[in-house]
Amino acid sequence: ELRRHLRDLATHDPMTGTRNRRYLDDRMPHLVRAARGSSPLSVVMFDIDLFKQVNDTYGHSFGDRVIIGIASELTDDAPTDADVVRTGGDEFLMLLPDHDEEAAGRLADHVRRRCADLRFAASVGHVGVTVSAGVARLLPTMTADALLSAADRALYRAKVAGRDATR
Ligand code: GH3
Ligand code: MG
Repeated sequence: ELRRHLRDLATHDPMTGTRNRRYLDDRMPHLVRAARGSSPLSVVMFDIDLFKQVNDTYGHSFGDRVIIGIASELTDDAPTDADVVRTGGDEFLMLLPDHDEEAAGRLADHVRRRCADLRFAASVGHVGVTVSAGVARLLPTMTADALLSAADRALYRAKVAGRDATR
């Protein structure tokens, strides 16, 4: 029991209950190895848009609730064999085994819309946020790091395109 508890603490983000970077570092080599066969592997990097402004306008504890709500939406939308990892303050990575870029892109856009529909209670009423998403698929020559960099670049393009977008 204690062993399991310690392992959970080591591999999860305490605030959102999603996976953490340590888990990602352990998991990626396995996923990449499995994807060297015939099954595709894609990842989606999600990042909340203009989140600093959200904190500045409504307060840090409101911001915390938004992060928790977005994390829970991502977890609900993720396929059973997918993982959701909190890779930064307002940034989450979805690991999608058996998804090519089309399937991953469709899922990412579905999640993006669902997130935009969420409302969070603030002092002024109910407030929504948007997220941007960057999709990448593992190519034969890619390392795990290269895959994550590709998702990062796609996310950057979604931000430049005006945010609330999937690239
Ligand atoms: P962009 O659309 O380009 O992503 O803009 P942004 O404002 O979201 O980007 P930026 O990286 O400047 O801001 C992220 C903010 O997230 C800054 C940081 O204070 C806040 N943040 C990070 N972790 C937490 C957290 O756990 N709780 C809260 N409330 N805020 C956090
Ligand atoms: Mg952000």
